[in-house]
Amino acid sequence: MPDPSPRIDAQTRLITLLGHPVEHSFSPALHNAALQEQGVNAVYVATPVRPEGLADAVAGLRALRFLGANVTIPHKETVAAHLDAVSDRAAAVGAVNTIVAEDPGGASEDASAAVRLRGDNTDVAGFLEPLQAQVPEDNLRGADMLIFGAGGAARAVVYALLTTYAPDRLTLVARRPEQADAVAQAMQEHDSRDALAVQPFEAAGPAVRASRLLVNATPLGMHPNPDDTPWPDADDFRAEQIAYDLVYNPGTTRFLRAAADRGATPIGGQAMLVAQAAASYRQWTGRAMPTDAARAALDAALAAAA
Ligand code: NAP
Repeated sequence: MPDPSPRIDAQTRLITLLGHPVEHSFSPALHNAALQEQGVNAVYVATPVRPEGLADAVAGLRALRFLGANVTIPHKETVAAHLDAVSDRAAAVGAVNTIVAEDPGGASEDASAAVRLRGDNTDVAGFLEPLQAQVPEDNLRGADMLIFGAGGAARAVVYALLTTYAPDRLTLVARRPEQADAVAQAMQEHDSRDALAVQPFEAAGPAVRASRLLVNATPLGMHPNPDDTPWPDADDFRAEQIAYDLVYNPGTTRFLRAAADRGATPIGGQAMLVAQAAASYRQWTGRAMPTDAARAALDAALAAAA
């Protein structure tokens, strides 16, 4: 059992979530449970930061020797300008969700020692891990795939799928095709097989039926609107498909239920939420996240929020 009263003392290091709003985030519950479980002397908080305060907030991470941070809306695309480096995948996706302090001296060193801040995007690995746990990689290589939505999460998914599976066709279904066109344009250098295609929802039926992997990267189905779904026509689902919903509250969405009823393999967004958090945690602490403790804390936080 994790210690219910974590030690907070002069050695305690901090990690924060930078975003606006942040009050409803489940990340503090999830990360603090993991830190406590492993006795890591660090605390994860959430700090609301408006766009005009972002530069100061990042300077504060350096000055106060934070272990790092998560970054969420509205800063994922803009924070890179304030960092010393970004990973290739964060650069490719065009978004940073994790900042890692590469601190040569640790908390007790002279505060003038340089702290380098590196940006990463753990949504890429966080998306892939549950998929690879369920489906052997060879089964999806070269397959037709489809993503509903063309926002920030969809960009990470497009990059993950193109670079891991080299799909034959990867269709982006968007209510604003110009948004999906921009994603396709940005990902062109990773699309060696010319797989990317854009469809409006009204014309996506054939691509939905032809795709082995269907990913919901819209908020459709998210609490408090669990009756929403990106694809109401359940007759288009079939047993050979994998339905992956990024929505994590509720854990099982209408989209996943409808696909599973037709025999498809469902993957819910809670697994990705934990996996992307684990990929950040590993970089801050040097340890593998105790995912059972994190998952239990997430379940409790979701139940409390319902
Ligand atoms: P985002 O940048 O706002 O993108 C959302 C996308 O969905 C946009 O293309 C948006 O189109 C589209 N969309 C929104 N409402 C729609 C509707 N009613 N009909 C059709 N399309 C609609 O958000 P995001 O950051 O990509 O996140 C997308 C979802 O993934 C959210 O629910 C988020 O919580 C979830 N997520 C989960 C994880 C995880 O770890 N499980 C990680 C990241 C994100 P418009 O631009 O036209 O609105």
